[in-house]
Amino acid sequence: MSRYVYDFTEGSMEDKDLLGGKGANLAEMTNLGIPVPPGFTITTEACRAYLADGAVPESLEAEIDDHVAALEKAMGRSLGDAVDPLLVSVRSGAKFSMPGMMETVLNIGLNDDSVEGLAFQTGNPRFAWDSYRRLVQMFGKTVLALDGEHFEGAMDRIKEARGVTADVDLDAGDLRELTRRFQAIIEADSGAPFPQDPREQLREAVVAVFRSWNADRAVLYRRRERIPTDLGTAVNVQAMAFGNRGSTSGSGVAFTRDPATGQQGVYGDYLPNAQGEDVVAGIRNTLSLHELEELDKTSYDELLAIMDRLEKHYRDMCDIEFTIEDGRLWMLQTRVGKRTAAAAFRIAVDLLDDGTISEEEALQRVTGDQLAQLMFPHFETTGERALLATGMSASPGAAVGRAVFDSETAVRRAEAGEAVILIRRETNPDDLHGMVAATGILTSRGGKTSHAAVVARGMGRTCVCGAEALDVDTKTRCFTTPNGTKIFEGDVISIDGSTGEIFAGEVPVTASPVVQYFEGEIEPDEDHPLVSAVHRIMTIADARRRMRVRANADTAEDAARARRFGAEGIGLCRTEHMFLGERREHVEHLILAETDEARHAVFEELLPLQRADFVELFRAMEGLPVTIRLLDPPLHEFLPDLTDLSVKVALAKATGHEIDKDTQLLVAVQQHHEQNPMLGLRGVRLGIAIPGLFEMQAQAILEAAAIITEQGGSAHPEIMVPLVGAVEELRNIKEEIAEAAHEARLKHSVHLDHLVGTMIELPRAALTAGEIAQAADFFSFGTNDLTQTTWGFSRDDVESSFFSQYLDAGILGVSPFETIDRDGVGRLVRIGTDEGRRTKPNLKVGVCGEHGGDPESVHFFEERGLDYVSCSPFRVPVARLEAARARLEREDATA
Ligand code: PEP
Ligand code: MG
Repeated sequence: MSRYVYDFTEGSMEDKDLLGGKGANLAEMTNLGIPVPPGFTITTEACRAYLADGAVPESLEAEIDDHVAALEKAMGRSLGDAVDPLLVSVRSGAKFSMPGMMETVLNIGLNDDSVEGLAFQTGNPRFAWDSYRRLVQMFGKTVLALDGEHFEGAMDRIKEARGVTADVDLDAGDLRELTRRFQAIIEADSGAPFPQDPREQLREAVVAVFRSWNADRAVLYRRRERIPTDLGTAVNVQAMAFGNRGSTSGSGVAFTRDPATGQQGVYGDYLPNAQGEDVVAGIRNTLSLHELEELDKTSYDELLAIMDRLEKHYRDMCDIEFTIEDGRLWMLQTRVGKRTAAAAFRIAVDLLDDGTISEEEALQRVTGDQLAQLMFPHFETTGERALLATGMSASPGAAVGRAVFDSETAVRRAEAGEAVILIRRETNPDDLHGMVAATGILTSRGGKTSHAAVVARGMGRTCVCGAEALDVDTKTRCFTTPNGTKIFEGDVISIDGSTGEIFAGEVPVTASPVVQYFEGEIEPDEDHPLVSAVHRIMTIADARRRMRVRANADTAEDAARARRFGAEGIGLCRTEHMFLGERREHVEHLILAETDEARHAVFEELLPLQRADFVELFRAMEGLPVTIRLLDPPLHEFLPDLTDLSVKVALAKATGHEIDKDTQLLVAVQQHHEQNPMLGLRGVRLGIAIPGLFEMQAQAILEAAAIITEQGGSAHPEIMVPLVGAVEELRNIKEEIAEAAHEARLKHSVHLDHLVGTMIELPRAALTAGEIAQAADFFSFGTNDLTQTTWGFSRDDVESSFFSQYLDAGILGVSPFETIDRDGVGRLVRIGTDEGRRTKPNLKVGVCGEHGGDPESVHFFEERGLDYVSCSPFRVPVARLEAARARLEREDATA
């Protein structure tokens, strides 16, 4: 029979799957001898069983009873005791942290009797009744899912009757009365009285936490953070420590380093006379840890010693929740802390430098997504800027958008394509969908550890919080600055998450220092600690990775940038981009040409243009391989729109000003019109339908390479044929390329190396890769088309049409155009690679679809043993980093 409950003394930080993150870390601290209120953890397995069966496992209740008995014994108090009661908290805690997304119930164990016991023990009736009314309220709202406004309304009425504005101005008698009213609300709204039996309170609270795993906001959060939906949450039941017992008590949160910048030194917020969530809810403004030092030096010193110990033990930055009860410090939680991207890089390198972690570990402490975030632009500091106020820099970045004051509006306007800044007094977990939709978040209350700040940092959203100078009025949808300036819904503002500044209007943005470093404009030195950290990590990554990283670049300018960003070649030059603008006419001529001679004449026009393009490209990539793909898209993409041209010709006819060329063109456009052009005359099919086209392109490539070689440089062209589905297609085109090579050799006497390969972007190509490899020097997976053709999803349409429903329904966890679908498309990649290499063991295999720059997909390509990934120049650093991380992961897996 399964065991569902473990005492804190029984687990360790290795047990996150079973005990959840919070439970595992509470056990770890308990076993380190750090002061943790005793308690026990109900496993994630129990939650999964509840979610599957709709009922708690049969043996759970007896196990909980046993552990409660042990807890009562350890504390020398019992639940519900009228003289000296034990109170417990019930908190969720999944394997992966989901801050504020699930339920917590505090003060379980209070009833009409034990509230008197608590008042007697503490000599503080006000405290006892405040704790009781909080329990009744929380129980009604979260366990019974009653309307929270009924409780808030009762609170407002009693304050009004007493003529006070703050909760703390209510006395014990008021709170006793309030508790009665709350109990009446529960009875009226749920049809049953508030349970007086503490064990029933506990049972129901545990079930409420299990249920909250599937609350809307939790489901949304998991989808965003890609947390599996079937893990379930553990539940931690712990003896209560009270931060709200008066001025010698309080609650706080702290980090062992600054979670925004990574700078060394402790950082945190403390709220005297407050319980649990009060600190992060931003209800009152908090004190810094230095102010705590002045208030209670003993607790402060002890806290710092514990934080130091935890950081050394976890070998990473930790975040901590603590409570001081009557001058006694208790640790309520610790975990490896969430941090910004900048902090992640700096902390990893600082810990590497002081010998705490190895180079391999430093690489595991940062991600490609974080690096991508650091490559976001920042606001320009020169020029006129209308500063409205300054808040706290909670999550870096530069965001410009229209002011909105509630999450629904944020979502609506964002869906209509607007950039919005979500402005709230403070956010709560129900604002998550608004925060996801917004480009930036601004709050007037709460510190760097408030909900808004923590969630925004996790999502990489720009956030400024605690801008107290702003008077935010969500009812009139406006905020007012101290000098009376008003910003209304729809007005544009700019917020700087790195400095906390808030500006009216749109502030121009500049490149990030990390991009400037990659561009070679900033040196990694002590003036730039972040850039130095990135430089150090990238140096390690480059030394550790196996896969090469190339760029998708079509112009010399892109190619040069790609090189600066570390590309080791071009993996895809889409030549169609060389047929746009003024050159489009040549394609029209080609389509209108009716004889071989006429077509040949067009090739003669195009050859020198193409050759010049390739000379520039080879020059920019001097010495590195350059994969050039022959023309791929359907011809209609180069022709005028059928409807526009029909109207033009019809009008011209009607007015007697007919133009022959347009009429001819219209016939051609009608001829080339296809119902499904993506599945029509494109790629290699085009090369076969228009003999000489690919030969001309190949000749331009090889002549350009020859010119570079003659000039003393070196060029390594790799000619790539798109959309091949059968080896015969490739063989056909190879004959043209051989002809082109012959022509080039006649013109130039230099020795030329070149490869001819194919894209694998159709299922048939992957399935017949063994045969195709006979005719190919290399394969490059075009995972954009391969995803399109494997799923039958039109890549241009589906993401903006029904995908959101697929994502909501959980049919897809993430778009397969973003992250490779391992099971389907990935399987074809595996078959294609393995069968290709069975024919040619040294076959070079790469990928050049968008997935080449996606971290998770890069890990898949490493697992499959691809030689390189190719992605857009800006993603090249991300791919370099992830290729190294993927290799380490693979080594770990096989170790
Ligand atoms: C692909 O299909 O993955 C690819 C790289 O080619 P394109 O995106 O140009 O179709
Ligand atoms: Mg393609």
